[in-house]
Amino acid sequence: MSTRADRVEARLAERDAGLLLVTDLVNLRYLTGFTGTNGMCLIGPGVRRFITDFRYVEQAKRQVEGFDREQGPQDFLEALRDGWPPGRVRLGFEDQHLSVRQHERLRGLLPDTVELVAAGGLVEAERMVKEPGELDAIRAAARLADDALEEILAEGIVGRTEREVAFALELAMRRRGAGPSFPTIVAAAEHGALPHAVARDVEIPRDTLVTIDWGAQLDGYCSDCTRTFATGALSDDQIAIYRVVERAQAASLEAVAAGRSGSEVDAVARDIIDGAGHAEHFGHGLGHGVGLEVHEAPRLARTSKDELGAFNVVTVEPGVYVSGLGGVRIEDLVIVGEDGFEVLSGLSKDLTTVD
Ligand code: ZN
Ligand code: ZN
Repeated sequence: MSTRADRVEARLAERDAGLLLVTDLVNLRYLTGFTGTNGMCLIGPGVRRFITDFRYVEQAKRQVEGFDREQGPQDFLEALRDGWPPGRVRLGFEDQHLSVRQHERLRGLLPDTVELVAAGGLVEAERMVKEPGELDAIRAAARLADDALEEILAEGIVGRTEREVAFALELAMRRRGAGPSFPTIVAAAEHGALPHAVARDVEIPRDTLVTIDWGAQLDGYCSDCTRTFATGALSDDQIAIYRVVERAQAASLEAVAAGRSGSEVDAVARDIIDGAGHAEHFGHGLGHGVGLEVHEAPRLARTSKDELGAFNVVTVEPGVYVSGLGGVRIEDLVIVGEDGFEVLSGLSKDLTTVD
């Protein structure tokens, strides 16, 4: 059975690198199990070095397996000054993460025989394909989040402020042993026209649309879901945009399959929304990967170069946002199967009225 580090090592050839320096903490967690805030690892043929500072030595003993653990200085790049084999080494680094300043420092302390090679995305590519245990963790986070929202809806949301509802939902997730995977969005009426609305100290009125976008993070793994509710009677225009998004979401969900490109699936939703005259009201991509981070690869978007593969976990979340009227977004969390897909979001997508 190959380890995650073994699989990343096998990808080094893609960048013509002999070793990979992993400094991104999420990637470090994925590869080593380490959840502290200062550490790095080096991966290559016969090389599994994990380095952290004295604060995390005990924690690393419990969490990190399959690596040689070292204690470095708090400024741990220093640990890379020595210990290089003779001859030339091409050292891959995570160029999507390492700052320009860190790169310069690293260049300054490495011997001339070590060449730095941009190698970002290798661990992320591996993270796209979830293991069974990771899928279970995401399923559990999604269930917990659904359960928490049902509790909040049962208490009623009309007359409470957006911020109160967001806070109560985050508290309900925390009581169940999780945390929010991102700041909860609760956006009523015209505020719903902002896709990334921040919950306000404004009461949720009757007879409008309310979008709630929330997720749980449980044992490191995230969920992400959006539902838009009615708080009473809606105008014909509001109902019309709900129907368009509902149709676009159902059709693009059906298009999710291993081997499909992220841009192809995006186009299924976009064609329906464009066809309904809302082309300029759907200004974001259709979806994104979810795992240890709530936004990760692959992307489902017009400009995406990603291809969906079996055991990717992605969202499908078209939206229509009309200034002055409000917005509708419907988001499901989905496992791409070898054959078909599995929806993890359990709550109804029928236009539902809540009090
Ligand atoms: Zn979301
Ligand atoms: Zn999302």
